Amino acid sequence: MMPILEKLKNELKPYAATLVAVSKTKSIEEIKAVYDEGQRVFGENRIQELMEKIPQLPSDIKWHLIGHLQSNKIKYLTPSIALIHSVDSINLIESLQRHGQKSAWVIPILLQLKIAKEETKSGFDFPTLKDFLITHAPHTFSHLQFCGVMGIGTLSDDPDLTRREFKQLKSMFEELKRTIFKDYPLFSQVSMGMSHDYQIALEEGATMVRVGSLVFGGRH
Ligand SMILES: *Cc1c(COP(=O)(O)O)cnc(C)c1O
Repeated sequence: MMPILEKLKNELKPYAATLVAVSKTKSIEEIKAVYDEGQRVFGENRIQELMEKIPQLPSDIKWHLIGHLQSNKIKYLTPSIALIHSVDSINLIESLQRHGQKSAWVIPILLQLKIAKEETKSGFDFPTLKDFLITHAPHTFSHLQFCGVMGIGTLSDDPDLTRREFKQLKSMFEELKRTIFKDYPLFSQVSMGMSHDYQIALEEGATMVRVGSLVFGGRH
């Protein structure tokens, strides 16, 4: 096995965490090589790129959409997508519910929460999300499966800052789980951590890490 995959597998095992191999910008051949090592979960951040790759690769791959989703692109989404990590607005929740109804698909999603200080990073503001879900209970969305939360930490060299942000995401997840999602067992995933900070994410309770450049090498 590729040494890096072996290393990641061993590191994730004690946490029973899922490795999402982020294959954006990578070729079919490069993805196939990682698939042949046994990896089955891949993440892409652009919908067009994802939909082009799906038919060219084995059908037992679980494809995750991890990048920002614009509402005008929702029409391209199909049940060949196993999980959407980046649901970051009320408008997207409502549009995805409508798309699910139209296409007879119960869409599995994560709610992306804002944890980074950078203004450019997207995600729900926690109070806004809570207020919305209090008045629009999760089970009323017949065509959405709320599977958990996702967050992107500040791009920084300060491991303490990263750790604080991951702790914050985990505690927001716990609060939602204890309250709004009390009777909703599917709400169980915490997607956080990338190549440079996945180890901190695991220590802070990630159930999914999204690792790209470490698996595939730097992006071109
Ligand atoms: C690209 C990307 C990753 C992976 O980043 P690496 O630093 O290459 O591991 C993770 N999450 C999201 C949302 C991404 O866009």
